[in-house]
Amino acid sequence: MLEDKDRIFTNVYGFQPWGLKAAQARGDWDNTKALMLRGQDAIIDEIKASGLRGRGGAGFPTGTKWGFMPKEPKPGRPNFLVINADESEPGSCKDREIIRHDPHKLIEGALIAGYAMRARAAYIYIRGEYIREAETLYAAIAEAYDAGLIGRNASGSGYDFDVFLHRGAGAYICGEETAMLESLEGKKGQPRLKPPFPAGAGLYGCPTTVNNVESIAVAPTILRRGAGWFASFGRENNKGTKLFQISGHVNKPCVVEEAMSIPFRELIDRHCGGIRGGWDNLLAVIPGGSSVPLVPASQIMDAPMDFDGLRDVKSGLGTAAVIVMDKSTDIVRAISRISYFYKHESCGQCTPCREGTGWMWRVMERLREGQAEIEEIDMLEEVTRQVEGHTICALGDAAAWPIQGLIRHFRPEIERRITARQAGAAPLAAAAE
Ligand code: SF4
Repeated sequence: MLEDKDRIFTNVYGFQPWGLKAAQARGDWDNTKALMLRGQDAIIDEIKASGLRGRGGAGFPTGTKWGFMPKEPKPGRPNFLVINADESEPGSCKDREIIRHDPHKLIEGALIAGYAMRARAAYIYIRGEYIREAETLYAAIAEAYDAGLIGRNASGSGYDFDVFLHRGAGAYICGEETAMLESLEGKKGQPRLKPPFPAGAGLYGCPTTVNNVESIAVAPTILRRGAGWFASFGRENNKGTKLFQISGHVNKPCVVEEAMSIPFRELIDRHCGGIRGGWDNLLAVIPGGSSVPLVPASQIMDAPMDFDGLRDVKSGLGTAAVIVMDKSTDIVRAISRISYFYKHESCGQCTPCREGTGWMWRVMERLREGQAEIEEIDMLEEVTRQVEGHTICALGDAAAWPIQGLIRHFRPEIERRITARQAGAAPLAAAAE
């Protein structure tokens, strides 16, 4: 259990102002120069020792990623830091809270991370729908420039560092790191084939690291309080604190910072007042945003909420966007709606995703209505296997996995609809889109 004194995001609910003065009173920008003067390699080593893994979903070790950047950038090929604030995954809303209420943690983190990886500038790519959040971030960046915290001789360190804000235009796929780079360059936001990876050829062909907002915003506190402090939370391979975003059928949905590896039931009881209608009413949980498979109630209760604990129940931590569904949920319809989302957001660049997402959604709709044959359940699963791992980016996997989870755990419910329909039951009402 995380105590208040160990929370990094002390203003996540916005009880205090977000501005520079209040942020400094909370400890942000406290002798940032001294943190930087520890040296670039020392900063990277400290982040590595903390065990911080990327908070955007993939969970790649953050310090290791920073270490991929060239230590001596070539003339005309500067290093860049890109911060992914294109938070569009259904269920995810933690970066929004950081930007709304603690933007200076992100800006200070950008300076420290950018300095460590020898970048001269950070580009923050924020989703287009985050209008007020972009306004807050613009104002916070201006405050930091005016106070000499970023810009020339940032924080008195002798290092020049700029921060730019770039607003997206509403495409989910621009949250994929190489599509984000294309979009920043003014092109259509479509993922690139990898390799080359961004650390070798990223923004404008220059070495680039793309990090999630939360990964960057926690860095200054890790340096101030020490890698050992951060690593004291969670368990091996799953260290630190984490913002969980809990929505759906709980009594009090919330965004809350907790220790990694907290058991699911404890997380919900402590912060959400339990499940609506009691624990017996829980049906299933999507524990990491819409891209990971659902987990039935019987398997999620004691699961540690971390990368390994959720992998063990054939799901994933993702962004830690926990979507709770009670027994009033039409689970087939819920997954069909997620399928529609991926069909809608496919960039159309590769055939298995462009054709497969639409095909999977149409079959899901027929299963929802019971207007399919039993054999089509296996056929649908086979198609998800053909899409999974055969596309340029991970959107294909994200479209396939929720359906696989549904079939794995709720096949009897799908079959029940089909047999009821064949026995003459009226079709279910069409889903509203
Ligand atoms: Fe585009 Fe889908 Fe291919 Fe990703 S998997 S590149 S979203 S078509």
